[in-house]
Amino acid sequence: MFRSSTSPSSADNGDATPNTRGHDGTGRTADTAPTPITVAYGDGIGPEIMAATLQILEAAGAHIAPDIIDVGADVYARGIAGGISDAAWASIRRTKVFLKAPITTPQAKGVKSLNVTLRKTLGLFANVRPVQTYDPCVPSGHPKLDVVIIRENEEGLYAGIEHRQTAEVTQCLKLISRPGCERIVRYAFEYARAHGRRRVTCMSKDNIMKITDGMFHRVFDEVAAEYPDITADHSIIDIGAGRLAAHPSRFDVIVTGNLYGDILSDIAAEISGSVGLCPSANLGEAGAMFEAIHGSAPDIAGYGIANPSGLLLAAVTMLRHIGQTAVAERVHGAWLATIEDGIHPADIYDPEHSTAKVGTREFAAAVIERLGRTPVALAHLAGDPARNTAVSPRPLAPRPRPTKQMVGMDVFLDWDEGERDPNALAETLARCGTHGLSLQMITNRGVVVWPNGKPETQRTDHWRCRFMAEGDTTTDHQALVALLESVRLAGFDFIKTETLCTFDGAPGFSVGQGQ
Ligand code: NAD
Repeated sequence: MFRSSTSPSSADNGDATPNTRGHDGTGRTADTAPTPITVAYGDGIGPEIMAATLQILEAAGAHIAPDIIDVGADVYARGIAGGISDAAWASIRRTKVFLKAPITTPQAKGVKSLNVTLRKTLGLFANVRPVQTYDPCVPSGHPKLDVVIIRENEEGLYAGIEHRQTAEVTQCLKLISRPGCERIVRYAFEYARAHGRRRVTCMSKDNIMKITDGMFHRVFDEVAAEYPDITADHSIIDIGAGRLAAHPSRFDVIVTGNLYGDILSDIAAEISGSVGLCPSANLGEAGAMFEAIHGSAPDIAGYGIANPSGLLLAAVTMLRHIGQTAVAERVHGAWLATIEDGIHPADIYDPEHSTAKVGTREFAAAVIERLGRTPVALAHLAGDPARNTAVSPRPLAPRPRPTKQMVGMDVFLDWDEGERDPNALAETLARCGTHGLSLQMITNRGVVVWPNGKPETQRTDHWRCRFMAEGDTTTDHQALVALLESVRLAGFDFIKTETLCTFDGAPGFSVGQGQ
């Protein structure tokens, strides 16, 4: 058994300890202690695949001291809404290296996804998800698939800021920051360069989300210009996802937003043979978390049939990350040898390519039996010590702050009177205009319904009413507060406001129909 790394004095203070020990690629030197890592067994199939993974790491001679923490379902059940205790946080902050099995996110309200919380709280901004096929040993319609999806890990719709605003309408805020875009895009180009990859494709939906996804694409173009040795291109996410599914070998590195990356990596994983094969590294400047890309698979939990490969390959990445490259290659080589011998868990079993269908434990035993073996058919996938390891992003250059001017306000109303006639609403609201602000338009779910609305447009109880400073001038907080007060006095239920500003003269808000 691995020796535990917990020491009461260090576990409590969250202090940094170096996470790279030993320089001979084994992690062992005469005077080094094993590298402390934090380990969570997770939920569903988590305990089964983590046990198999740790067994293989131990047999391979990984010089690590796992500190086991309890996170997920049991912790949620104890009433801790975040799914993680203070002691567990302290362990992760102390070791800075976290090997995590999947966790079930309860559907209950008020419960936050621990996976998302971990990534964001620890500043693990880059989610690196390599997907490749193991042709001819694992059947896939795409033998040449070898793509790395680099997913932004902290922003977008995963900010988790959601509201129910009216009886009929809910919202989820999509937050995209310029530093967030720059960090992930630069990381993608640095990754491509460090790993000898030739092309980085950005995927976004900037034809519709011109401000948020538009910024991601714009930053991509700016950063790409600094890497003339790497081909850079952009694809709208919908056709990009379609092409990834149909012609995956056309792609090399893909950099994309949080939700898109989550979806793309599951598509790529499934067409590679199984979601059970794919690892993921969550990397930041203050630590790293390694996990499989799949979830806790409750449908097969407890049957002993889960494929532990995704988590095992994540552990291989972790070993490289902490400098134990020789052990990493030993485990990776044995795993490849097992796959090419046709010893396959159920999710990749196929009578034509497999020699035995095995459970989780038997698969682990087969990998251990092959430690020290060099793969033959899959030799091209072994022995790349740089593969999947972290690269340090260059620090971002400071940027001058733009000149910001306030030019109006969107007032969102919960309004459900009569026939929901926008002309009637506009008539009353127009009288609320004050302090040089006047009503410019009303939209309902983004469609202009006043002026010149169309009777066919479906109208909910959620209205955005845009007031702009008259005569292309600016406004101020005092005028906006006075406007809101006058909206209140007219009897309206305002549920949210957005201040409209220009930045260096350019509007920082969407203008026009359906935007
Ligand atoms: P899932 O990835 O758990 O399962 C999808 C399908 O793939 C299932 O049919 C499952 O049996 C199969 N599968 C997944 N991993 C496998 C493996 N190693 N071997 C064989 N088959 C495997 O996705 P889901 O069912 O949508 O999610 C279940 C739970 O996991 C949810 O609560 C979700 O929130 C959570 N989840 C957690 C993580 C994480 O911890 N990082 C990631 C995704 C989903």
